[in-house]
Amino acid sequence: MKVHNYSAGPCILPNEVFQQASKAVLEYENTGLSILEMSHRSKEMVAMADNAVALVKEVLGVPEGYSVLFLQGGASMQFYMSALNFLSSNGKAGYIDTGVWSSKAIIEAKRLGDIEVLASSKDKNYNYIPKGYNVPAGLDFLHYTTNNTIYGTEFFHTPKTDAVLIADMSSDIFSRPINVADYGLIYAGAQKNLGPAGVTLVIVKDELLGKSGRDIPSMLDYSVHVKGESMFNTPPVYSIYVSMLTLEWLKKNGGIPWMDNLNQQKADLLYSEIDRNTKFLGTAEKEDRSRMNVTFVLQDDSKSDVFSKMLADANISGLKGHRSVGGFRASMYNALPLESVQVLVDVMKEFERTNG
Ligand SMILES: *Cc1c(COP(=O)(O)O)cnc(C)c1O
Repeated sequence: MKVHNYSAGPCILPNEVFQQASKAVLEYENTGLSILEMSHRSKEMVAMADNAVALVKEVLGVPEGYSVLFLQGGASMQFYMSALNFLSSNGKAGYIDTGVWSSKAIIEAKRLGDIEVLASSKDKNYNYIPKGYNVPAGLDFLHYTTNNTIYGTEFFHTPKTDAVLIADMSSDIFSRPINVADYGLIYAGAQKNLGPAGVTLVIVKDELLGKSGRDIPSMLDYSVHVKGESMFNTPPVYSIYVSMLTLEWLKKNGGIPWMDNLNQQKADLLYSEIDRNTKFLGTAEKEDRSRMNVTFVLQDDSKSDVFSKMLADANISGLKGHRSVGGFRASMYNALPLESVQVLVDVMKEFERTNG
């Protein structure tokens, strides 16, 4: 049965990735071994991990002077780890608060020092991206969340600052071109656009490391992981492998330019239906609408069960909105095909026709 998977994360990955990934569980490339029973230091697994790093660099255009790491602990561990490595003990950092994930990053950073929230969209339940805020001089870094998975808003500008820029790109990395050189640190939990849960991608500018003046525990020290090439301790080999397969899929199909274009087509298709259809209302400000997570509500909330039943009948899964926003959220990550969006749009048209 073909399911149109709109899950917010973990989420859809390319079917051909599942095919290859399942084979490797039975036997990894004529080694006679399952990938699950191989040493992470075997030549096959070292080569595989090196390939994953090389693919990240190639696909995203990572310049010289940056390290690519695969760590554990999720994006949520990066909230603390990033501040621990980048906030000096008497320094100050700026944060842009665009929702639950950035708020959580702020909570963790506050354990370590002086944090200023430079802008927030909390006043409207985070349905827009703040603009025109002031960024004071002398910050150790500025942290922001590029795509707000829960509210369906996305930054389409890079905050202007002389400070080191740190970005949580968990839910839109690899969906569009980025200029890595603008950033001191990028992190992303894999389970939105890259691979299975259990691994977190980190891209860090080497020359910025080792400057916070803090005594950092080894596992939370980027320098330690750079030196150990992500094998300071046992890495999540299988999650890295599946991420590597997803990157191969992305590269083979045309890389970021292909993905960027397809994601725009998907977003245009769904948002234009939301705006046309008299039964639905988008919740995010138009100019800040995310291409990854599309949030909308029914004009008449009492019809929610009717619409949900129609979605289920069309094999559309994962469309329920986050509990803090309600309504519906269509997460359209990289691997979601345009055809799945057409199926959703057709259901919305049918709902309008039959519920007039
Ligand atoms: C999902 C998500 C997180 C949390 O990721 P974990 O890997 O579960 O810690 C953080 N930030 C954003 C933007 C997310 O979408």
